[in-house]
Amino acid sequence: MSLVQANHLRKSYRMGEVTVEAIKDADFTIQAASFVSFVGPSGSGKSTLLNLIGCLDQPSGGTLRVLDTDVTTLDRKAAAAFRGEHIGFVFQDFNLVPVLSVYENIEYPLLMVQNRPPAERKARIEQMLEAVGMAELGGKRPDQLSGGQKQRVAVARALVTNAKLVLADEPTANLDHDTAYRIIELMKSMRDEFGTTFVFSTHDAKIMQEAEVLYTLEDGRLSCEEVTHA
Ligand code: ADP
Ligand code: MG
Repeated sequence: MSLVQANHLRKSYRMGEVTVEAIKDADFTIQAASFVSFVGPSGSGKSTLLNLIGCLDQPSGGTLRVLDTDVTTLDRKAAAAFRGEHIGFVFQDFNLVPVLSVYENIEYPLLMVQNRPPAERKARIEQMLEAVGMAELGGKRPDQLSGGQKQRVAVARALVTNAKLVLADEPTANLDHDTAYRIIELMKSMRDEFGTTFVFSTHDAKIMQEAEVLYTLEDGRLSCEEVTHA
């Protein structure tokens, strides 16, 4: 089943007299429960593409279906509701709330978006803490954690709502190589366990080898698709 389908997708930004074509005529498909990476140098359009898939921004042209919804028709409010229901995000700089504990950071989307009853929230958060190897650290604050631990919390937060799709924009850029590798392995094991589709971006040649499907971006063009392993 295809979870994301883009045809002739384009995105341009206008800056005064200049128009930057960040994505030029991209066609791609992302299958359910796949582990996909968009790879390219800085400025090649990775964030732009992930923001389009995540309904954080609207394309300038072409079609984009996410989870069988034509997301180009969603207004701001509908896009926010759609994101809250179906999509999890992991960021380069972790984006944890500093005054909240690990537990509360993971609870945040359940409270803010999905308003689940307390017992269900607790069970779900404990399951996620366990899954990311942070069961003992729920009471810590983000500033008491290493970078790798922070990213584990972010992965748990992205998945706690049962998101079908997790978008991770350069999730390993602020981590040393061993930690980066372990975060990618964690995401892959979460995919195996929960069937979540993961899409991440990177410009790290070693990290990109961990993807099962690789799309290469160069100056806004999606130049090839490569399946590295089954
Ligand atoms: P990457 O994530 O691969 O570094 P981006 O998607 O951030 O690439 O950027 C792609 C191109 O679009 C770059 O030329 C960048 O300067 C431009 N761009 C990105 N966001 C904006 C914006 N909000 N306004 C104007 N130009 C932008
Ligand atoms: Mg970027």
